[in-house]
Amino acid sequence: MNIRIWNDMRRKTNTVKIGNITLSSEQPVMIQSMLNTPTMDTEACVEQALRIVNAGGQLVRITAPGVREAENLEHIRRALRERGCLVPLSADIHFTPDAALVAACHVEKVRINPGNFVDKRATFKKLTYTDEEYAAELEMLRKKFTEFLEVCRKNGTAVRIGTNHGSLSDRIMSRYGDTPAGMVESTMEYLRVCKSVGFDNVVISLKSSDCRIMVDAVRLLVREMKRESMQYPLHLGVTEAGEGEDGRIRSAVGIGTLLNEGIGDTIRVSLTEEPEAEIPVARMLARLCDRPRFEASGDILKGNCSRPCIVADLSVMDEWNEEMRERLDLRQEDGSARMLSGVKTPEMIYVERFSDELAELPEETLVVVPAERWRQVRHLHARIRPLYSWTAYMKQTESDPDVPVWVEVDAVEALDAELAERLNKDRDAVLVLSLGAEYHAYREAFRRMRKLGVGNRTLLRVRTEDPDTEKTSLEIAAQVGGLFLDRLPDGLWISAPESSGPAYGMELSRNILQSAGVRRYKAEFISCPGCGRTLFDLQGAVAKVKQAFGHLSTLKIAVMGCVVNGPGEMGDADFGYVGAGNGKVNLYKGHRMVRVAVPEKEAIEALRKLIEES
Ligand code: SF4
Repeated sequence: MNIRIWNDMRRKTNTVKIGNITLSSEQPVMIQSMLNTPTMDTEACVEQALRIVNAGGQLVRITAPGVREAENLEHIRRALRERGCLVPLSADIHFTPDAALVAACHVEKVRINPGNFVDKRATFKKLTYTDEEYAAELEMLRKKFTEFLEVCRKNGTAVRIGTNHGSLSDRIMSRYGDTPAGMVESTMEYLRVCKSVGFDNVVISLKSSDCRIMVDAVRLLVREMKRESMQYPLHLGVTEAGEGEDGRIRSAVGIGTLLNEGIGDTIRVSLTEEPEAEIPVARMLARLCDRPRFEASGDILKGNCSRPCIVADLSVMDEWNEEMRERLDLRQEDGSARMLSGVKTPEMIYVERFSDELAELPEETLVVVPAERWRQVRHLHARIRPLYSWTAYMKQTESDPDVPVWVEVDAVEALDAELAERLNKDRDAVLVLSLGAEYHAYREAFRRMRKLGVGNRTLLRVRTEDPDTEKTSLEIAAQVGGLFLDRLPDGLWISAPESSGPAYGMELSRNILQSAGVRRYKAEFISCPGCGRTLFDLQGAVAKVKQAFGHLSTLKIAVMGCVVNGPGEMGDADFGYVGAGNGKVNLYKGHRMVRVAVPEKEAIEALRKLIEES
């Protein structure tokens, strides 16, 4: 089944030929994945590639750490063709330009990393470059990269310039630091060579495990390319997204935001799972973001809310139960009528049926009730707020000046001068935008509010009745996550009480806010998807690390498959658990390797000790 995208709303791109497929803004978003089998194991690679293709993958990437592996790509490709599979293959190259030259003769596409194609691994020791030194390195880059492009041109091979946040060169770091601007310049150095030699069969990616860095970098690159009259297509992905629900939500926030903005022509959802499991997620994501709107000006409205809150929707509940108390992180002290909140307790709770139970809620919890119930229950808790529809609010002639009201707006058009005037007089009123799972509706609402000078606190409320939680979670994350990346809303309220239970919306809200980097509710685990370089049982390692440290809510821990790229790609993780081969693991504190070659059996304990000591 094809994934339909409205081409007229996508950013216009060149057309890139990759074997039997064409990549451009005129084509549906292309879905791809990467093998995690050893590249020298031809049969295992073929079997896994076939599973990816059967799931709907349209391009398969294979790591080629050296010339030997690059040569074996020929056998993998031939074996696939013999089995009637025409899927284009892409070689993944780091540090070994010689392998890139070989791979370009055997497969349809080669990905190189500008951070390590010509430049050596960053040492972070050389911090200053004279203009002459800088220019000399650029000249070397131009020469080596041009040689490679000529081989690709001769063989009809496409190229991906795949920049990663975690592997920028010393040269780039010296002038731009570890920033989106650095990622963009690192890419532009290579694109300028492509442009100067007239090589257009090029795709670009800028990836990071941090959704905000990834989204900002891609937006900035699009502007820079426009300035330099370039229209290369874009591959999107969030690196080290992890596995399960966390990996899916993080990918939806990063990739979904850009697809909504009409940016992105091929995507990979990197999960620490079997590669074929990525495909349905990627397909669904592309389908859910099928109303892109590319704004050529690239002016992105930003806000300044760095700590949005959550509203837990308990509207279907009429009494407490133990499970719900636990999920809300509320506990009852012996002998006390009032509950105590924990670190994960939502700041606000919406109820429709509770009465006397309201008196049990912690003092600091803000309680929202329908306006028509407010007078009956207001005496039960000191912080009860009435929720009005915007039409009822506008009809109201008098309100209690001591009680800030909540005003729900369900249509962008309602945000007019009249409502703005009223809200401007009523600065403590909280605005609730209830515009569905519609990225552009919310953006338009914030634009109007900025224009009308509305400065009231503003929350998003997304209602859903869809019982398909896998789809709903991806959809909501993809449609509202980007607004939190840009710090626009002050809170998130997901109402899905009937279909998915009252805890679902609250837990999804936590996950979205954590993925957007604006709240931390649980330990954060990032892990690479694994590839032919992976040096241990990655999925098993992730499970063990999660089980051992899942309770440490302030930590970010990276689990990476290899010492070649793993340490660089760990981003701002506090600790790293990196496969070192032969049943050994290297442990990192930040970017510093502090334990080398720890036997895997002892590695969890060693990491526990390291965390305790730290
Ligand atoms: S970090 Fe993981 S995905 Fe990246 S090269 Fe190493 S094993 Fe492969």
